[in-house]
Amino acid sequence: MNVEIIKCLQDNYSYLLIDKKSKKACVIDPGEANPIINYIEKNQINLKYILNTHHHSDHIGGNLILKEKYNCQIIGFEGDKNRIPKIDILLKDNEIWKDDSFEAKIFHLPGHTLGHIAFYFYKEKKIFTGDTLFSLGCGRIFEGTYSQMFSSLNKIKELPLDTEIYCGHEYTLQNSKFCLKYDRENLNLKKKVIQAQDKQKKKIPTLPTSLYEEMQCNIFLRAKDLESFSKLRDLKDNF
Ligand code: ZN
Ligand code: FE
Repeated sequence: MNVEIIKCLQDNYSYLLIDKKSKKACVIDPGEANPIINYIEKNQINLKYILNTHHHSDHIGGNLILKEKYNCQIIGFEGDKNRIPKIDILLKDNEIWKDDSFEAKIFHLPGHTLGHIAFYFYKEKKIFTGDTLFSLGCGRIFEGTYSQMFSSLNKIKELPLDTEIYCGHEYTLQNSKFCLKYDRENLNLKKKVIQAQDKQKKKIPTLPTSLYEEMQCNIFLRAKDLESFSKLRDLKDNF
């Protein structure tokens, strides 16, 4: 399975998962259709599925055009069935979703929204975390509680440390300012920020990141308890 990173809108990332043999593909969170269509046409792949982490328009904006054009199926959390238009396949927490080419475990991760999920491709050790976990940050809590978000992040922390993390936005450098302010002595963090700056200078994505690096550098994953996590989230909202 190849992962192509496709830039969408202002700072969103959409991901095309391509099975090299069959040329079948899934797209994660197409914020808009055109960049996806361009890639598909150039590379002659067969788009079968649209996987949505949550219902926000910067993640589903391309759904309907792509579905119409390629006759692919839209997949998302069962709880979002009324918020993701024309959804075809409804997923449950902890369910395994698979077909001949793809196999992922679904994690329900409420906090940013109540219906947020992540797709964990365990054979490849890749997780697509939408707006729940970012590199050096986490999503804003719009619909859930601090406690829900904290336990959602803890679920991700249980995965193997070499899991690759694909986030919904390019926020790494922006997030790094907050981490640096409240975690000044963290040398791993400083190293990661320099790497990220280097990548952004070359206009390449700072993603994927790894769970190992995020555990070392992401202040929200390093929060020891719900209380300190909540405090950090509040500080970040006003940062
Ligand atoms: Zn969102
Ligand atoms: Fe978003």
